[in-house]
Amino acid sequence: MTAYDPNNIFAKILRGELPAHRVYEDDRALAFLDIMPRAPGHTLVIPKNPARNILDIDADDLGYVATIAQRIARAQMQAFGADGITVQQFNESAGGQVVFHLHVHVIPRHDGVAMKP
Ligand code: ADP
Repeated sequence: MTAYDPNNIFAKILRGELPAHRVYEDDRALAFLDIMPRAPGHTLVIPKNPARNILDIDADDLGYVATIAQRIARAQMQAFGADGITVQQFNESAGGQVVFHLHVHVIPRHDGVAMKP
C-alpha cells in the first residue's frame, strides 16, 4: 500500500496550515465540517495520528475515531432535528477515497430528503 503522505489536505488542517470549521477536538481526534456538505451538518472525524485509511490505522485509534463519530452523530440528532445519520468511510481510490488521511463522514439525514451526490 502507498505510504502516508503528510502533505494531504487533512494533515494540513491538523497542523493549522488550512482553515476548517472545527466542531470537536481533543488530543486524539478532530471533527470539522465538510467543505462540500452532502447534507447540512455533514461532519468529518479524523484521528490526529497519521493514518492513510482503515488498512493502516492503529486499532485503538480506529476505535477512538468511531467513539467520536458516535458522539457527533448523537449531537447531530439533537442539533439538526435529524431523523437518522449516515456514516461513511472510504478506502483507497477504488473504494471512493479522495483525501488520504482516514476520515469518517457523519451526515444528518431527514425522512424523505435525498443526500446530495
Ligand atoms: P469523497 O469525496 O468520495 O467523499 P473522501 O471520503 O476522501 O471521498 O472524502 C473527502 C471529503 O473531504 C469530501 O467530502 C470533501 O468535500 C471533503 N473536503 C475536501 N477538502 C476539504 C477541506 N479543505 N475542508 C473540509 N472538507 C474537505
